[in-house]
Amino acid sequence: MLTEYHIEIIFEALGDSIAPRALGMMATANVKQDQFFTGFFGRDEFHCDNNAFAKTDAYIEKQRALVVSSLQNKDVVSAWRAFGRMSHSFQDFYAHSNYVTLWLNRFDGKTPPPPSEIDPASPDLIHSPDLRSGRTYNPLELLYFIKGLRAHVLPLIPRDSHAWMNLDSPEQGFKFEYAMQAAIKRTRLEYEKTMRSLPKELLSLFAGS
Ligand SMILES: [Zn+2]
Repeated sequence: MLTEYHIEIIFEALGDSIAPRALGMMATANVKQDQFFTGFFGRDEFHCDNNAFAKTDAYIEKQRALVVSSLQNKDVVSAWRAFGRMSHSFQDFYAHSNYVTLWLNRFDGKTPPPPSEIDPASPDLIHSPDLRSGRTYNPLELLYFIKGLRAHVLPLIPRDSHAWMNLDSPEQGFKFEYAMQAAIKRTRLEYEKTMRSLPKELLSLFAGS
């Protein structure tokens, strides 16, 4: 997803639960995952690209463990940053995979429910043999990011690519809003899951209150 939407998702999902300073740290660490040199090449788990679902899940759990160990060391800033990094991965899951499409396919032929109704954690879909995420066909994929070249490059890139499959912005059509709502709900679920993994005395520290 584009930077502005990652930030919007964090504030929308957790604005009522977490102090603004913590949200700011999380959002900064989240969007840093998109830095060109350090965040892209060989970093499929940051963006759930190239069908790297298992690698992405492992990365999320590694960051969650870091949240816990950082808080135990009273290093709350590192904990917020770790949560920010993992949030990038599970938010991009909805923008870079066909999860939204598979969910919408359930309403085959009928008007689907509004985006706010999407289930972000349907086990059938998460474990579906049809679940895919976009492949990055570099260097063409990189040229796709240059807006002026996009229309010329797109026809040259296969359909199972990030370029064709992504829901990174409203430009991609009505499915984008489903990806946004799924990412907002998932961010809340992952925050709650992380809080459940913490001993009581660290809960308020993580929430920044
Ligand atoms: Zn990303």
